[in-house]
Amino acid sequence: MENKKIGTKCVQAGYRPGNGEPRQVPIIQSTTFKYDTSEDMGKLFDLEASGYFYTRLQNPTNDYVAAKLAALEGGTAAMLTSSGQAANFFALFNVCECGSHIVASSSIYGGTFNLIAVTMAKMGIEVTFVSPDASEEELNAAFKDNTRAMFGETIANPALTVLDIEKFAKVAHAHGVPLIVDNTFPTPVNCRPIEWGADIVTHSTTKYMDGHGAAVGGAIIDSGKFDWMAHADKFPGLTQPDDSYHGIVYAEKFGKEGAFITKCTAQLMRDFGCIQSPQNAFILNLGLESLHVRMPKHVENGLAVAQFLEKQPQVKKVSYPGLESDKYYELAKKYLPKGGCGVVSFELEGGRAAAESFMKKLRLCAIETHVADARSCCLNPATSTHRQLTDEQLEAAGIPAGLIRISCGLEDKEDLIADIQNALS
Ligand SMILES: *Cc1c(COP(=O)(O)O)cnc(C)c1O
Repeated sequence: MENKKIGTKCVQAGYRPGNGEPRQVPIIQSTTFKYDTSEDMGKLFDLEASGYFYTRLQNPTNDYVAAKLAALEGGTAAMLTSSGQAANFFALFNVCECGSHIVASSSIYGGTFNLIAVTMAKMGIEVTFVSPDASEEELNAAFKDNTRAMFGETIANPALTVLDIEKFAKVAHAHGVPLIVDNTFPTPVNCRPIEWGADIVTHSTTKYMDGHGAAVGGAIIDSGKFDWMAHADKFPGLTQPDDSYHGIVYAEKFGKEGAFITKCTAQLMRDFGCIQSPQNAFILNLGLESLHVRMPKHVENGLAVAQFLEKQPQVKKVSYPGLESDKYYELAKKYLPKGGCGVVSFELEGGRAAAESFMKKLRLCAIETHVADARSCCLNPATSTHRQLTDEQLEAAGIPAGLIRISCGLEDKEDLIADIQNALS
């Protein structure tokens, strides 16, 4: 599969059935696996042999789908998690511990912001947030001796800022730490962060990858490029013996290609247990089989809606990196030549009241706390996720009361635009 194009990988990478085996990925709906001797099983526990013994750690269905994701992102190893939140937590906590520090873009998903700023702070892990637009000097200044990771989102949810991945990777590597990039919005069909220097890629597969609003899930993909041993003092978890696994040194035994995901599975999945169910992995795989067909349609609809909105007198401002007028247009051209995603945000003249009445009149776009599935949906943060804030507080947070985030689905763009036009009038 290595030399195949992205669409072929979406359809066929990962599971490769042998003679007479099921054509579709089998759902191995079993918590446990049977062995003839204790010695056989003991080898698995010691990570001496590879195989399955308990689904909290590994399951064949999940592994087939993770292998597809590794192929799609151009990584060497991958794992599925129960949600995008679990993926980002695991990716960070796999290289951090109490006393560590993270440098993160401030323009990230609210759940991830909370995870890093509040919950991980309680574990003694501190963070410095930087603007996604910061200069190299400003980024350098955020690093400390105890910095262990840098984090950002390719296209941020919901701000739709575009990360300068090459710049962030250069700075992270100058400080001997990996760059972790959440690539949920563009998916590997539209951007592969590893090709631009990212070391670890994460996903909320709940969004476009599933694409049908059916299963919550997450994934972590390792580029296999970060040299843990070259920065051994910073990453003792990967470069020193793991007492909970008979003194295995992950970076020695599994090399650059396998150390990160093996440790993340053997320790974090073992102890935190955020495994994706094999059923959900199967649903995710169905979504992946058409990802390369769906993404161009989401982009086509997103761009058409953004261009339409830009011309309407009732609309104060439109954010969509594919628009020439957008602040991130140049970065989008570089990192997202095929387009980014179907999410557009715009601000109505007339604030909260205008947004409320606009949304009430929509017929095709449903009001949902969700993005990135086949059905278009929209959200006004001021009257939903951020309703505890006053108009002044919203303005200060960069989320004006009249802001609406619309996720363009797979309907015909003429119908979506007609629905929006009707609601505006
Ligand atoms: C939704 C989302 C998450 C969280 O994923 P869940 O699957 O909801 O846990 C993380 N990052 C981004 C960019 C997201 O859009």
